[in-house]
Amino acid sequence: MALDTFSAEILSIHQMTPRVKQYVLRAERALSYQPGQHTCIVLPREDERDAIRPYTAVSLPNDNQLALAIKRYEDGTVSGYMDERTVGDTITLIPFKGNLYLNDPEGANVFLSTGTGITPMIAMVRDFLSSPGGHATFIFGERTQEDLMYRETLDLLATEHDNLDVVYVLSHEDWDGPTGHVQDHVDDYVDDFTAGDFYVCGVPQMVVDTEERLLELGVADDRLFSEGWEAGAVAKEEE
Ligand SMILES: Cc1cc2nc3c(=O)[nH]c(=O)nc-3n(C[C@H](O)[C@H](O)[C@H](O)COP(=O)(O)OP(=O)(O)OC[C@H]3O[C@@H](n4cnc5c(N)ncnc54)[C@H](O)[C@@H]3O)c2cc1C
Repeated sequence: MALDTFSAEILSIHQMTPRVKQYVLRAERALSYQPGQHTCIVLPREDERDAIRPYTAVSLPNDNQLALAIKRYEDGTVSGYMDERTVGDTITLIPFKGNLYLNDPEGANVFLSTGTGITPMIAMVRDFLSSPGGHATFIFGERTQEDLMYRETLDLLATEHDNLDVVYVLSHEDWDGPTGHVQDHVDDYVDDFTAGDFYVCGVPQMVVDTEERLLELGVADDRLFSEGWEAGAVAKEEE
């Protein structure tokens, strides 16, 4: 069966960190998705199967525009292709899907992510802030300060909203904030593990370790929502 695809024009490209660019796109059709869900970029290839990789919108649904943040991997097929795109180029996408989206905008929400696993969290925390009430704790792990995507956005949101706490955890830099892994600090910033929803996204190992820690701390299985990705990149990240 032929894939349902649509094209989107690149309206702007912004280098966010040394390895991550944000792309603002205008699709040829109106887009429908829940914040946290992903589209896929389709890279047609002549002599082999099309390369298809998922990417999560960081923007809230708004007619036919969307923003993606994509990290470049050395030898990465689709991330390398995107790294070479320029404004005005057209790319091919498929409709949104995925199981990661906000369940209770008025409850307690804990967002735990590392690397580009932040993308669904950015969409979901903005979705959370669009309704009054509730509380959100946003814990984001990266290697160094220069790798922190959306730091300015998150700092502004936390300044504007008393019900949002943002914490950055660095694994490869000594600084005046927490260091190590996000799962090692979650109980420093969250008081009650028996209520609320816990969202986890990052490389598969981070997701496994974080889920294990949350279950140990008393989070119920059905309050835990996660997505692991970049499986091919795990070995490289850990080198
Ligand atoms: C639901 C979901 C949402 C996602 N959202 C985002 C997002 O918003 N932003 C984002 O940046 N990413 C996101 N990802 C990850 C993304 O889909 C791709 O996995 C990522 O961009 C790498 O794809 P690629 O085609 O560039 O690399 P690939 O060609 O698939 O390679 C991945 C890495 O593995 C290495 N590699 C490839 N083949 C081999 C091999 N044979 N041996 C050793 N190493 C190898 C490459 O060098 C590269 O580093 C998401 C993933 C999922 C599952």
